[in-house]
Amino acid sequence: MARVYNFSAGPSMLPESVLNRAATEILNYNGSGQSVMEMSHRSKVYEEIIFGAQKLLRDVMGIPDNYKVLFLQGGASLQFAAIPLNLLTGSGKADYVVTGQFATKAYQEAQKYGDIKLVATSKAQNFSVIPDLDPAAFTPDADYFYICHNNTIYGTRWPSIPDTGAVPLAADISSSFLSEPLDVSKFGVLYGGAQKNVAPAGLTVAIVREDLLGRARKDIPTVMDWKTMAENDSMYNTPPCWPIYICKLVLEWIQHLGGLEAMRERNIHKAQLLYTYLDQSPLFSNPVPPQFRSMMNVTFVTGSEALDKEFVKTAAAEGLVNLAGHRSVGGMRASIYNAMPVEGVEALVAFLKAFEAKYA
Ligand SMILES: *Cc1c(COP(=O)(O)O)cnc(C)c1O
Repeated sequence: MARVYNFSAGPSMLPESVLNRAATEILNYNGSGQSVMEMSHRSKVYEEIIFGAQKLLRDVMGIPDNYKVLFLQGGASLQFAAIPLNLLTGSGKADYVVTGQFATKAYQEAQKYGDIKLVATSKAQNFSVIPDLDPAAFTPDADYFYICHNNTIYGTRWPSIPDTGAVPLAADISSSFLSEPLDVSKFGVLYGGAQKNVAPAGLTVAIVREDLLGRARKDIPTVMDWKTMAENDSMYNTPPCWPIYICKLVLEWIQHLGGLEAMRERNIHKAQLLYTYLDQSPLFSNPVPPQFRSMMNVTFVTGSEALDKEFVKTAAAEGLVNLAGHRSVGGMRASIYNAMPVEGVEALVAFLKAFEAKYA
């Protein structure tokens, strides 16, 4: 079978040139006589990979010097606990905005460790919007304020970054990582699972402001303590060597294409192709108001569950795969991360048109 256009929310497509490069290096990386999968993480040759990936991420994202880049494991989900375990040690209070299932999970996890306030939620709108915030509801002495920047399941994204004053902002950027420029200095902590837009599954990246290191609870598991990981260059224990290597190749690819400004242009173009089509379609519709729409995850329905199923099935037969919505919401979802070529979105729009002509 030829390569398909894979619209999976994660793990998701990687750039073909990255996969080809990895293939050429798989048996013998850079004359070392071994695969990256086999080499010691303490070797010179591997140090170039991990430090190279870290430097590239700093360059591509414009990460200020007073932030540490950490390569972790356990997925975004482990950080749901790591955030309170590392930060909830001042007042023991934190504010959460719940904009979807992953934010809900993070909110629930944090409740195990302190006094957690729900400052806003869009649950009553089925998470189809980002809620308005009332700064008067914020906890002035909170240890941190938490948001999920892009809501993978519902296809929403924060239109702007909230101003939380002196309270550090923690954000889950799993599904918007590297999709557009982001002002890191507005955040205390940014983190995400890499399997959406950065690398294969197995790597979690955290970007932590230095003054937030060293605040962890005494009983925190050592590998979850950001300070320990920072002091050991993310190699307190064996890091996820292979995903970090692919992460480096992906960052080189982004840099080669013109960096995050260029990514944003590409992503706006792809998302507009799809939303413009959906907004005029007599059959398909998207439930998210334009100002809250994600560039990465585009959700849509026909209004008939049976027709949605038929769509997902017949699209897959045409090489447009993984278009089913998340199992908790149904309908369809096209995840169009950085590595989805514009040709894939064009093929999807052509298929939507053909399906509409047959069923509308
Ligand atoms: C996928 C996803 C997660 C869960 O990531 P894991 O790495 O599977 O734990 C959390 N948050 C967001 C926004 C996601 O898209």
